[in-house]
Amino acid sequence: MVIQPKSINRPVEERIAWAESCFQGSGGLFLKDEKTAALLTQFKSAARASGQEMKDAGVVALCRECDQEEGGSCCGKGLENKYDAWLLLINKLLGVDLPKVRQQTGGCFFLGEKGCTLMARHVICINYMCKKITNDIRPSVLNALREIEGEEIECLFMLNEQVKRVLKKWTSRQKTA
Ligand code: SF4
Ligand code: SF4
Repeated sequence: MVIQPKSINRPVEERIAWAESCFQGSGGLFLKDEKTAALLTQFKSAARASGQEMKDAGVVALCRECDQEEGGSCCGKGLENKYDAWLLLINKLLGVDLPKVRQQTGGCFFLGEKGCTLMARHVICINYMCKKITNDIRPSVLNALREIEGEEIECLFMLNEQVKRVLKKWTSRQKTA
């Protein structure tokens, strides 16, 4: 297993390859760690709750309309460069099949035919709201959404720290073995 993660400055394909090899080579190291497993479960439920709230608030419908009728999707090329190798590894641990090639010309590397292919998204992707959204949806509804998204972000942060901790511990054990 290649321990050192690929820097965020390396091409996305290299960061994906590191996440894949770390996931495959870890022999279930992360999933066997109780705290990581609990955080993964907690994150899945937080991400589901915020996804549902986005639907209920009307954000999903506005974005679909924007994408399909106005050609205005904000998942543009280059946004994949916000994703470091750790966040991609977390997606692997969540069961995400990371794309091998860019599917939409001019779109983010992670944009699939039905939208984003990731489960653990960067904070920018979680809480970005354009003017169309802030103009069309009541502030009280958006505030409730922000609160739920806050739980998703907090949980993701803890997960990120825990995954790094597990790999660090494993690495130092390998060195002393
Ligand atoms: S956030 Fe705004 S710009 Fe982006 S897809 Fe939704 S409506 Fe369109
Ligand atoms: S939401 Fe997904 S597809 Fe859109 S920019 Fe973020 S990572 Fe890319």
